[in-house]
Amino acid sequence: MVETADSERRRTERSLAGSDQQEGAGGLWDSVKKAAFVIGSGILFLAAFGNSLTWHLQKFWGASGDFWQNLWTKVYLAFEGHDAALFFLGTMLVPTSVFWVLNGLLLLVDTSGKPSLITRYRIQEDKNSPVDPTKLRQAVKTVLFNQVFISGPMVVAIYFLISWRGDACGPELPTFHWALTELAVFSILEEILFYYTHRLFHHPSLYKHFHKQHHEWTAPIGVVSIYAHPLEHVISNMLPVVIGPVVLGSHITTTSMWYCVALVSTTISHCGYHLPFLPSPEFHDFHHLRFNQCYGVFGILDRLHSTDSKFRQTKQYERHTLLTSLTPLTQSIPDTPKKGQ
Ligand SMILES: [Zn+2]
Ligand SMILES: [Zn+2]
Repeated sequence: MVETADSERRRTERSLAGSDQQEGAGGLWDSVKKAAFVIGSGILFLAAFGNSLTWHLQKFWGASGDFWQNLWTKVYLAFEGHDAALFFLGTMLVPTSVFWVLNGLLLLVDTSGKPSLITRYRIQEDKNSPVDPTKLRQAVKTVLFNQVFISGPMVVAIYFLISWRGDACGPELPTFHWALTELAVFSILEEILFYYTHRLFHHPSLYKHFHKQHHEWTAPIGVVSIYAHPLEHVISNMLPVVIGPVVLGSHITTTSMWYCVALVSTTISHCGYHLPFLPSPEFHDFHHLRFNQCYGVFGILDRLHSTDSKFRQTKQYERHTLLTSLTPLTQSIPDTPKKGQ
């Protein structure tokens, strides 16, 4: 069984190498032009209808805006004159704590295999039950290394970059409208940069040196989201997320919230459980299972470049929705029985 999985993996890696070599520069350029056209139209559409959408949301936001401003004023006054400390706390310690609280809970489930209330939602039903402790220790060590020695210094560098762009820790919160626009821009930039850098790391000449490590987990768990070679962590994990706030010269509160959103969403997409009322992790889980499909975050660029063509023929694709009932999708949409069974 293990041998079959291994040979299947090697076959997939070989076919990946082949397909990348076949892809001419012209084909890729055509795809990039197509992507630019669709993304450009998307931005125009948002600009046209965004105003009325945010007007409704702003009305809903209403008086609670004052609540957040008062809260921020208190934090701002407490840290007055210590912008660097405030920045490090908000964009490093807060997101990192959010990551570990969420992953701590997930690790309890992964290592104990309990409660069945959660484990019944496992995507690859026969895997990580329970998770291999040696492999897990190795992953946690690498994650800590990446956070302390890569993310930490990068956040400090970003502080200087953003300060140079403007006042990141100003006394006034951005408006709701602007914060929402920023989050939309951050997400678009992340999708573009993550898709292309990730796909680049799948190029045969780079894959074996840098990205293979992340793919040691064919059935990922939450903490594996930043289990990666340091170079991959800088280029593919950090850069697509940190670029948005630098480009827009964002306020620390938006930056902090965005980093938390990015860490929670990558944890969910690696966690291995398709839980009710949470974003579907099927897309990236399938990437770990099959290697040469589903490179992006939202799947927009995968659709454009047809790197989701095999995924779209699978049960996992049928299950790739927001689960709104308590019945696990592996039960409501079961696998087709294999021939001979
Ligand atoms: Zn991954
Ligand atoms: Zn990959």
